[in-house]
Amino acid sequence: MGALCSVIRFENLQELKRLCHWGPIIALGVIAICSTMAMIDAVMWYWPLDTTGGSVNFIMLINWTVMILYNYFNAMFIGPGYVPLGWKPEKSQDCMYVQYCKVCQSYKAPRSHHCRKCNRCVMKMDHHCPWINNCCGYQNHASFTLFLLLAPLGCIHASFIFVMTMYTQLYNRISFGWSSVKIDMSAAKRDPLPIIPFGLSAFAASLFALGLALGTTIAVGMLFIIQMKVILRNKTSIESWIEDKAKDRIQYYKTGEIFIFPYDMGSKWKNFKQVFTWSGIPEGDGLEWRVREGCHQYTLTIEQLKQKADKRVRSVRYRAVEDYSGACCPVTKGVKTFFTTPCTEEPRIALCKGDLILATRGLKHWMYGDKVLDSTTDGTKQLLLIILQEANLVIVLAV
Ligand SMILES: [Zn+2]
Ligand SMILES: [Zn+2]
Repeated sequence: MGALCSVIRFENLQELKRLCHWGPIIALGVIAICSTMAMIDAVMWYWPLDTTGGSVNFIMLINWTVMILYNYFNAMFIGPGYVPLGWKPEKSQDCMYVQYCKVCQSYKAPRSHHCRKCNRCVMKMDHHCPWINNCCGYQNHASFTLFLLLAPLGCIHASFIFVMTMYTQLYNRISFGWSSVKIDMSAAKRDPLPIIPFGLSAFAASLFALGLALGTTIAVGMLFIIQMKVILRNKTSIESWIEDKAKDRIQYYKTGEIFIFPYDMGSKWKNFKQVFTWSGIPEGDGLEWRVREGCHQYTLTIEQLKQKADKRVRSVRYRAVEDYSGACCPVTKGVKTFFTTPCTEEPRIALCKGDLILATRGLKHWMYGDKVLDSTTDGTKQLLLIILQEANLVIVLAV
C-alpha cells in the first residue's frame, strides 16, 4: 500500500513537472480565457439560458471545453510511448540493420528516434511539441490530432459568440453621422437592456478573447492540416526528411536504387485506421510495423544507416583555431559571432585550440559535426556545432 502510494505520488509529481512549462501554461491559459469569456458573453449579453437556443448553445460551449481538455491532457500524459530499455530485434542477426542509441543503451526500433528533451527513444516520433511539453508519437498521435481539430472548432464557435455579443450590445449604442461613428458606452439607447451593463471593460475583454480565438483557429488549424497529411500518408515529419535525403543520396551516387517508403499502405483509409481506432489504442505495438509489398521491417532503418555512413564519407575536417569556453552565447568572440549564434537550446561544450572536428552539415555561419576526441580510436566522437566566420573556424560548440 505504501509503495503504491509512493508510486502514485511520484506519477503526480511527474505530471506536475510536465505542466510547469511555458507551453502548457500558455495553451491552458488561452483555453481558459476563450471558453470562460464565451460562456460569460453568451449567458449575460447574447443568448440567455432561459431560452432553448441559449441552453443548447451553452451546453455546446461546455462540450467543446471538456473535449478539448480531455484530448489535450491525453496527448500530454499518455505520451508518445517509449522504446523499452534494452530493446533489440527478435533475431540477433537483425541488429545490424538498426541503429544503436548510446543514451538509452538499446537498439532503436524502426520508426523510433531519440528525443533529447524526453531523453528517451520515442516510438514513431513525429516531433517534440512544446505546447504539450511532450513528444507526438505512436500512442498520442490520435488524441493530439483530435485536439488540433477540436481547438479551432471550439474557437470558431467562441468567435461567433464574441462577434454577436459585441454587435448586439454595441448596435444599441452606435450613432451614425454623415462622416462620423459615435459609440456611447454609458447606456443602451434601445432595448433590450441587459441586467449587467455591457461596459467598456467587457467590450475590451471580448475583443481580446476574439483576437486569441481567431489566432488560435488559424495557427492550430494549420497544425491540424499538417498532422492529417502525416496520418493519411503514414509518414512522420522526420520520415519525410529521411525520404528526401534518400532521394538526394541516390541521385548523388547515381546508384539507380529505387527507394520505396515502406509504411504508406497505399490507401488513405488504411493509414487513417492505423492511428484512429474505436478502442483509442493505435494498431500494433509501436515496435513492429505493417509494411507495403516489396519492403520489409528494416527498409527504412537500412536507408538511415546508409545515410549515416554517407554523412561520414562526405564530412570535412576542421581544426579549432581558438579556445572556447562552451558558453551558450559567446560574448568574447566578437559582435558578428555573437549575433550569428543559432537560437537553439542545444547544450554546448568547451573546446581547446587544436581540437579536430569532422563537420557533416553546414549552415551559413554554423556547421554541425563530430569532435574527434581521440584520433586513434574510432567512434568516440561527440556531435558538435561549429561557428564559421569567413571560412576561419572560430568556435566549436557541442550539440
Ligand atoms: Zn534513445
Ligand atoms: Zn520529446
